[in-house]
Amino acid sequence: MPATMIDGKALALEVRAEVAADVAAFGAPVCLATVLVGDDPASHVYVGSKHKASNEAGIDSRDHRYPADTPESEILDLLAELNADEGVDGILVQLPLPEHMDEPTVLRAVDPAKDVDGFHPLNAGLLYLGEPFLTPATPSGVMVMLAEHRVELKGKEAVVIGRSEIVGKPMAMMLLAEHATVTICHSRTADLKEHARRADVLVAAVGREGLVTADMVKPGAVVIDVAMNRNAAGKLVGDVDPAVSEVAGLMTPVPGGVGPMTIAMLLRNTLTAAQHRRSRVAASGP
Ligand code: NAP
Repeated sequence: MPATMIDGKALALEVRAEVAADVAAFGAPVCLATVLVGDDPASHVYVGSKHKASNEAGIDSRDHRYPADTPESEILDLLAELNADEGVDGILVQLPLPEHMDEPTVLRAVDPAKDVDGFHPLNAGLLYLGEPFLTPATPSGVMVMLAEHRVELKGKEAVVIGRSEIVGKPMAMMLLAEHATVTICHSRTADLKEHARRADVLVAAVGREGLVTADMVKPGAVVIDVAMNRNAAGKLVGDVDPAVSEVAGLMTPVPGGVGPMTIAMLLRNTLTAAQHRRSRVAASGP
């Protein structure tokens, strides 16, 4: 029997509607500021979608776009201003940054309380310690999908392929927090197939079309395809070969799987940041 497909688009719309209701109930403006440096066309499209989705959820947005040759110091000054701005709840620096900028330096300049991407070391550390605050949107979206489909994680074998700071590592931490036994695979893993075949839950986050083939998947497994690759024909494809649907029990399509969840979770994080800042202000008194 072919695998059940997870409808990421429909679930993302549900999450976005929940966030919109919570923003309305929050009773004060919520604002996301984005920072984009350079002229990467995909980045401009992504940032545009983030603004559109924010506005649809009732979240105000500020759009800061700079030319590729902007000095790093100018972006650090902008981030300092946004950090200090009481009207800004969330700050997102669109990646990749131009080559002359040091990504860690720029990402670490974002106030961790406004770090809606969850990339600041403080937020990464809180996730590692099992005290998540603002967590990376893509793996967070995967966890919502797994919960929605009542996927049991406790005591299960979870294998994550990819160890980036953005997807693979936080994904592994989130699965571990739910008591899965987690294996992280990467480009130096000796026998990827052997590891993958053990997985009750297999997450592919590499960026290589067709990396996960049907013979690497345990029958009935949950297979989550995070990747978004443009193939030679210009089509958007994941890492998982379509034939895996003949073996897996539950899986995500590409497109229409993990992708739409990412923006929904970014909106959720922006509201979380706003709520946190308000509770901090309330706690410090008049
Ligand atoms: P990344 O930083 O390039 O990391 C890729 C990871 O894959 C690395 O850890 C790398 O190992 C590993 N890898 C490379 N070749 C491998 C192989 N042959 N076997 C096993 N592991 C291998 O990428 P990323 O930012 O995590 O993104 C991964 C994919 O997810 C991309 O397709 C990206 O477009 C997509 N993505 C989607 C969303 C979404 O919203 N759906 C969000 C973010 C990313 P090493 O560490 O050893 O190099």
